[in-house]
Amino acid sequence: MRDWPVWTLRRRALGYWLLIDGSALAVVVYVIVSSDQPSPSEIARFAAIAGTAGAVIILSSIYSHRIGETERNPWAAHLSYLTAGIVTLPPNLLVLLLFGPALHCLLTQRPESHRWVFTLSATALSVFATRYLLGWANPHAGLLLMVFAATFLLVLRAALIAVGLKLRRPSGTFEETVGEPIDAVLGIVAVSIGGLMGCVAEANAVHALIAGPPLALLERAAQLPQWRRSAQRDAKTGLANAVHWDTRARYELTKASARKRPTAVMLLDLDHFKRVNDEVGHLAGDAALAAISLLLRGTVRRGDLVGRFGGEEFVVLLPEATPEEAESVAERVRKAVAALRVPTMGTDGKPHELRGLTVSIGVSTTLRFGYELPDLLVAADAALLAAKAYGRNLVSMA
Ligand code: GH3
Ligand code: MG
Ligand code: MG
Repeated sequence: MRDWPVWTLRRRALGYWLLIDGSALAVVVYVIVSSDQPSPSEIARFAAIAGTAGAVIILSSIYSHRIGETERNPWAAHLSYLTAGIVTLPPNLLVLLLFGPALHCLLTQRPESHRWVFTLSATALSVFATRYLLGWANPHAGLLLMVFAATFLLVLRAALIAVGLKLRRPSGTFEETVGEPIDAVLGIVAVSIGGLMGCVAEANAVHALIAGPPLALLERAAQLPQWRRSAQRDAKTGLANAVHWDTRARYELTKASARKRPTAVMLLDLDHFKRVNDEVGHLAGDAALAAISLLLRGTVRRGDLVGRFGGEEFVVLLPEATPEEAESVAERVRKAVAALRVPTMGTDGKPHELRGLTVSIGVSTTLRFGYELPDLLVAADAALLAAKAYGRNLVSMA
């Protein structure tokens, strides 16, 4: 128990996570001791909902495994049948439905099970709060109330989880904490399918089966954000990969060209990076690349596009930047890299602090080279070579 990864959370996050986990447990215990025995028709409804959802999730998992998908987000499907349960099952059978995601965690042996437990607890609290809103003993199925309850469920769950993630990583971006717009869409689809499933199961338990195909589609669609992220981002640094950066940069340049706004391109290449690999090891090299990516993102403005151009080369598009501004951003980055210290592990397995990293930067601007991306990149590259030739750890304007 002492080596559980949950204890590695920072103190405030740990307090909040344990509070959510503890509250969920208390609610579940209260529901179990205070509920009456379910009727045979309620048990039939439970079996139909759990059976349909279970079959879809298991088949989808098998398919996922076969095509070699490593990371999956199964919460959309779980949220869907839990919504069906909120609408149509007594609270104690709703507790049984919550065993679905719990079982999922156990069977897939997630590396971060404390995170899963936290998400499950936040989900359980939101589910029971929504049930309370709809009517604890006999939920009302009026349309307006259902829509309101579904919104409440999604917002409360997202907020409970977002606070936990923010406390865990205060430096996390909005997307990392709250999710992307597509996650909100998936949530809305999930609760809609769940609401429909609950309504048809209410009339006849077996009709819950009709939710099988849309649930299967939801399961597949829920993987889309992951696929898109892995297609657009570079795995080592989390930055836009070269292809994605190119597409976005061309789009920004077209906009800037139409409005005649100045824009700059900054090409960076780490100095003597091969030495880092040779002397401290490739893992330390990777840690340095990740640290520099983080530094870059923190040093430029929100609308600037940072990408990994190649091995130890990065590229930044600076919309709305005059040549003077671009040069001062590049200088700021150069100085920040020189001051950077990266805690890492040496080849001997002992902690090692990397310092003294430097970067050479070439900058080109639309004012001199126009709005075509290849022209700007060629110019920035020539300036970068000049910075290398002048001795490195320099900014050179094309
Ligand atoms: P220069 O100052 O002239 O740029 O010297 P350099 O050693 O940085 O230049 P060179 O292009 O010869 O070497 C780049 C090195 O970057 C080679 C490669 O080992 C390292 N590198 C490229 N991509 C990665 C990566 O993803 N991880 C690690 N650890 N090293 C990488
Ligand atoms: Mg290079
Ligand atoms: Mg280099």
